Formats: sequence, structure tokens, C-alpha cells
Amino acid sequence: MDLNTPIEKIGGIYKKYASRLEKLGIITLNDFLYHVPFRYEDYSLISKISQVQVGEVVTVQGEIVEIKNDYIRRFRTLQKAKVKDKTGEIDIIWFNQPYIPKMLKIGDVISLSGKIKINLGKKIMESPDYEILNGETIHTGRLVPVYPETRGVSSKWLRRQVYKILNDNKNNLTEYIPQEILKKENLLGFSDAIREIHFPDTFENEKKARERLSFDELFLMQIHGLTKRKDWAEKTASNVFEIEKHKDEIENLLVSLPFELTNAQKRALEEILKDLKSDKPMNRLLEGDVGSGKTVVAAIAMYISHLNGYQSVIMAPTEILANQHFQTIHKLLSKFKIKIAIATSGRKLNLDKFNILIGTHAILSEKINFNNLGLVVIDEQQRFGVKQRSIIRGRGKSPHLLTMTATPIPRTVALTLYGDLDVSFLDEMPLGRKTVKTWLTPEKKRTGAYNWIEKEIKENKTQAFIICPFIEESETMTTVKAAAKEFERLKQDTFPKLKLALLHGKLKSKEKEKILADFKNRKYDILVATPVVEVGIDIPNATIMLIEASERFGLSQLHQLRGRVGRNDMQSYCLLFTDSKNARTLQRLRGMEKIYIGAELAELDLKLRGPGEIYGTSQHGVKSLRIASFSDFSLIEKARKQAEDIFPRLKDYPKLLEKVNEKNLSHISPD
Ligand code: ADP
Ligand code: MG
Repeated sequence: MDLNTPIEKIGGIYKKYASRLEKLGIITLNDFLYHVPFRYEDYSLISKISQVQVGEVVTVQGEIVEIKNDYIRRFRTLQKAKVKDKTGEIDIIWFNQPYIPKMLKIGDVISLSGKIKINLGKKIMESPDYEILNGETIHTGRLVPVYPETRGVSSKWLRRQVYKILNDNKNNLTEYIPQEILKKENLLGFSDAIREIHFPDTFENEKKARERLSFDELFLMQIHGLTKRKDWAEKTASNVFEIEKHKDEIENLLVSLPFELTNAQKRALEEILKDLKSDKPMNRLLEGDVGSGKTVVAAIAMYISHLNGYQSVIMAPTEILANQHFQTIHKLLSKFKIKIAIATSGRKLNLDKFNILIGTHAILSEKINFNNLGLVVIDEQQRFGVKQRSIIRGRGKSPHLLTMTATPIPRTVALTLYGDLDVSFLDEMPLGRKTVKTWLTPEKKRTGAYNWIEKEIKENKTQAFIICPFIEESETMTTVKAAAKEFERLKQDTFPKLKLALLHGKLKSKEKEKILADFKNRKYDILVATPVVEVGIDIPNATIMLIEASERFGLSQLHQLRGRVGRNDMQSYCLLFTDSKNARTLQRLRGMEKIYIGAELAELDLKLRGPGEIYGTSQHGVKSLRIASFSDFSLIEKARKQAEDIFPRLKDYPKLLEKVNEKNLSHISPD
């Protein structure tokens, strides 16, 4: 049977289990092999019955001499057995598993693994795992795999399937990684690795197996990225932008900026210019911490697009951000006689004729007459789907693409996760920025904190954000109601003398904009807001950020929120509240007090929470890993190096090529 056969098509028991297995990500027979254990029961100590010790977990093997059901109370049963080997006899009990005496008969030779206890002065084995002994054991007497389970799909059942598939396909698990790589990286062979990750002889072997399969996953992801990158370069010819010709105009813009670009911004700009003048369309990701100044880099690129006679569009995930970009870009570029338009669901301006268009998702559905779209910029790219990105690109003839993100993914990870893109890093903050002093504030200091905030606002004429608890991923009425309640409490009981406003995602865009504008103009002292409205807003006069239920956020998100303050030269503060008493959570949050670099916080988050949560599985376009971990930087580096090395000669390795083209790689990359 071909391993890529969907289990639903196989019939028999598989058909019945198909929908349950899908929950575990098992669609094909092959997926069973990649459904790897998350731990192992160590049943490898096999003991003679006469030698078992109370308290130890052992395996004994012998013949059943007695087995029966005992009914103790209504609906409660005990299963009792006696098993003997050459050295002695031992009593076995199970609870409430009345089918056991139907499956195991007197005279059967069985293997049992479990803990030895003492009952009425006699050694017994309680609730052991068991199997009839004929040949190799898989549930007892070894390191036994324990799998992620779902209702109706137990580890025991999964073990049997995996074992059978492994045996049936001994000759189908062919090696596809070139020998030279296996040798260089000292990796286990493929079929050994698959076998050993499920049924390892030792923990040492299990580790080697996991390393090999993690390598494969990262390596294939990288090859996949390189393949896509090559396709992109071959498929499309770009609009080649002239840079030299417009040197003076570009210089004029740079001189007119209210600040000098940081070295990181200059470097990123160089890289972008190189892309824009090449004959392949740019496909670049600009990754930079909150406040690192991505917008101005994008604005310069859009200006260059204009100088070359092309339109540009910048898409932002929220109306607030789109409006803010509109203002910023207006300030930077309108003196160069550039027509700037905006399209959000709440606001439309200059759509008949423009050089630069700023908008939200609304741009996608709106009938907008692009003529000659040359550059697409997508801000906070993780908030857009692959499809949305491709729709907007489709409005031009292979326009250049610049995507931006503040998700501080460590450089090593970014290069693999975004293997299909070129990446520029803004790893430097504008001069004069002070770090935002951050405190994990215990509940008993809450009143003190409120008093301090009030004093700061009065004496230093500053402003504060208060972020309400993060209740759900996309903002529904539950969040809004909770925020409204918190707002009333703060307004009436805590800060009756201050002016407060409430901002949440369910407000009309005009209302949001008004509140933000008023806050910016200091008509309010405190802005109470839900977490979803956070990204990117720029209120330079605000210096205090208070975050409720901070344990619900990833460190990267907290860092993003914190980045809302500290945007001028005054000292800014971030107060984190939490109810959590969990030591690990507190340790994680304390990272915020010590670390002020987004990428480092992301690394810490990876170590303490795991990758699924940090990159938010619900986010668009984020690839997830089954076996490897994004925290294993050295393996990521190795896999990337080997992939880049072999990629130009890929066609010399047909087995590898076949693997790369296999459909079941789709779990690695959604697009
Ligand atoms: P982000 O990368 O988070 O999108 P922004 O582009 O919103 O950051 O920039 C944050 C703030 O920093 C803005 O107020 C912007 O004007 C300012 N800024 C950007 N670059 C510089 C620079 N080189 N020097 C000083 N301030 C800068
Ligand atoms: Mg931004």
C-alpha cells in the first residue's frame, strides 16, 4: 500500500477512524509515521517475578494461571489475575476493565509492565499495561511510545497502527537525503530514524532519531523556500526602476526628513534599492522591532516608485493604522507634489487619481482604478493571508513587493521560516530612545500604581494607556463588554478627576479616529483600550503603559504593546499586572523587566512557551513544525547551510526532488 494513500480510502477500521485521526493531523498512512511520541514509558527493565521490588516499574513475563472479574459494587469491577514464571507467582489487578478476562485466557503467555505495590503484605502489580507475548513487544518490556491522543484514539491503538505500517513498509522507507549530508552532519539513516523515534532501543537512539527527523523538516522547509524563490525569479520580469537618474530627488527627500536614518534603515534601504533596479520583482521582508522606523523606509521606496512613474499601495491591518500612515506619509511626501489617497471601509479620499494609495483590506474589494501599480507594501504582513497578498499584487503587472513585520522572530528562524523571501533587519533603534522601564507589579501595589499614574499625569503632563485583558483572539462582544466595565470602574472609582476614553474594535472607524486624534491632542489623560487595537499606533506624548492579565500575552506581544510608549525623549514606563502564581509564567514575564530587544524576548518566549504559541498558530501564513523546534538554532543553521549548498544540484538527487515535490509537505508551508 502506498504510504501516501489517504486512510479514508483504505477502508476497514481506518474509514471509521478517519475523522478522529484528522484531528491529530493524520490523513495518510505516512502521517502515522510523522505522528511522533511526546514521551516514552520506560518499561525496559525486565525482571524475574521472584525478584521484583516494591515501588519499581518493571516488566514481568509469564503464564496466566488465574483470571477473573470481581464485582465489588454497582458498576464497579475488579479484574484479578495470577501470573507465574519459573521463579514464582504474582497477583495482578486492574480496575473497571471487564473486557480483560475476555481477551486474556488461562494458559496465555503474557508480558506485563507496571508498578509493583504491596497489598495485605503481598507484592502485586496494579493496572499494568499488557500484551500477549509472541515475538517483539510494543506495549511492554521496552521504551514504550506515548502519543498525542484524541477521543477514541489511544496511544495503544496508535502504537499498533504505527508498528504495522512500519513492518509492512520496511522497504518503502527509502533514504532521500544525500549520503554526503548524512555523513557531514552525522545523521541517522531515514528508516532507522523513523523506526527509532517510535520504538527506540535506548533514549540515546531516540535523541538521534529526533535530531535526524528535525533536520529533515527544517531542511525540506528551506529547500521549499528556495524553490519558491527560484520560481518567483523565473516566472516574472519586473518593472526595472531607475535609481541613479533620480539620485538628487532621493537625496532631497532624505535631507528633508526630520531625522537622520539609522544605520539599519540605511542598510535596509540599500537592499531595497538594489531589488528595485533589478530585473526580478522585489520580494522582501522588512523585519524590525516596534518603533524601529519601518514606515519611513517604505515611504522612501514608494517615492522612488513615483519618480519612476509608478503607483504604490500600502496596506495596513486596521483603519487606525491606515489613517496614521496617511498622516505620516502626507507629512513626509506631500511637499513633493504627490497625490495621496486613502481607502478604508470608513474613509475614501482621492481615489480617482493618486500616486500613493493607503488602505486596509477594503482596498481588495473596492473598485479602484489602478494604472501602473509598481510597488505593493504590506504592513504587519502576518495579519494578511496569502490570498489577500496575491490579490493586491494582481492589481499591477508583477509589482515589487515589500512586506513588513514587527514580529520579532530571531534572525536564524526568520531565514528558515521565510526562506522564500529576502529579509532585511532593522536591528537598531533611532537615536535617543530610552528603554521603557518595566515592572511586573504585584496586585498589592495596584492602588499605589494608580496613585503614581495620577501623579505622573498631573505633574509631568503625560498620558497613559491601560490595556484591558486579552479575552479572545478576534475581538467579539465579550471583550468589548469586559473593557467597557473596566472603563467605568476606572473612570468612576479610580480616576474620577481625570479624563478617560475607551477604544475598542467594535467602534465605527470615524469614532475610533476621533478618539485617537483627541487623545493625541491631549483631550484625554488615559486611553483604556482592548488589545486588538494596539498595533502600530503612535502617540508620542504617552509615557505610561499599564497591561492587565499580562500572562495571556506572548512576550513579543507585550513588547509590541510596550512599544506604544517611549516614543519621545521622556522616560517611559510599562506596568504589567497578573494574577498568575505560576513560577514559570512569572519568570517569563520578568524577562520584560530585563530584556528590551524584541528578538531576544522572542527567543525567551520560544524557550519558555514553545513555538506554537509565540508565532500564534492562528496567524496567517505561519508554518508550523511537527518534530523540529524553532528554538534549536544550531540545527536550523545546519539545515539551512546544507539546503543552500545542495539546492543548485537538486536535480542530481531524484529521491530528494521527489520528496520535495510530495504533496504531504503541505503541512510545512501553506502557500
Ligand atoms: P515601526 O517600525 O514600529 O512601524 P514607525 O515607522 O511607526 O515604527 O516609527 C516610529 C517612530 O519613530 C515614528 O514617530 C518615526 O517618525 C520615528 N522615526 C523613524 N525613524 C527615525 C529615525 N531614524 N530617527 C528618529 N526617529 C525616527
Ligand atoms: Mg509600523
